[in-house]
Amino acid sequence: MSKFLLDMGHCLKGFDTGTQGYGKREEICTREVGYKVKSKLEALGHTVIIVSCDSANSVIESLAYRVDTANRIGGDLYIAIHLNSGGGFGTEIYTYNAKIFTEASNILKNFVGLGLTDRGIKDGSHLYVIHNTDMKSLLVECCFMDSKSDMDVYNSDKMSDAIVLGITGQKVTPTVVSPTIKFRKILKVIKQTACISENGSLVKTFKTGDMLTAIDEDKNWWILLIGSVSKANTIEIKVQYGKISASNLFVRQEPHITATKLGSLNKDTRVQVNKIDGDWVNIVYNGGFGWVFGKYVTLV
Ligand SMILES: [Zn+2]
Repeated sequence: MSKFLLDMGHCLKGFDTGTQGYGKREEICTREVGYKVKSKLEALGHTVIIVSCDSANSVIESLAYRVDTANRIGGDLYIAIHLNSGGGFGTEIYTYNAKIFTEASNILKNFVGLGLTDRGIKDGSHLYVIHNTDMKSLLVECCFMDSKSDMDVYNSDKMSDAIVLGITGQKVTPTVVSPTIKFRKILKVIKQTACISENGSLVKTFKTGDMLTAIDEDKNWWILLIGSVSKANTIEIKVQYGKISASNLFVRQEPHITATKLGSLNKDTRVQVNKIDGDWVNIVYNGGFGWVFGKYVTLV
């Protein structure tokens, strides 16, 4: 059994946010794919250590955290997941000096099998995480977020399969339930509280007044992307307001860019936020509910 260091590219907030396209943000996609990779590898009996961070004050802080954590813990393979942009299309993998090894070439082959153009295994020795990790490492650019045809192929379940099969040669049976980011709850810390990882170690300490985003709950715990915090030390913000930052922002029936338009909102309109689901925000609208693209809603 192997030990994998999993780097889900970019941070959810702060300075190292990723690219975007077609209603999706990179830092959300890397986690959609990454958490499925984690659960599938674990279902096969492997150990997976998440080395990514969700918030950083600079890009270098974000990257250094990932590499330092990986080098301290050690492992067999460092896997960084990203999505590309810049006007191209297709899938590619970066390794140190473009070295070709089994896991890299198999992952690439599997991504090409999803219908993406093969851009090859490229030299990633200029990339911080590839350059500085002590162990064998690879960075996969799954597809281009600014390519419509690539994003039509984007599928976190199939892409996580492509990575897991590429690494292990094994496919997890579909009975394994993979976590997806289904809902968000906004929490406020009312008493200094520890955030604990799955293996029980301290991830960080939140102070009174910090705002957190829960992606799930479990008895007495709120589950965040980075770990869990005690429900006793937080309050759920039931009523959350937002301000629209775009002019003429469409309100849609479903959280999708092609969903039916219910209407539109003017810049600076104050809205009541019901819930946040990935990139989309569900708001109270016209006596019912509607969805707006979260990038244009500032929580107030
Ligand atoms: Zn990226």
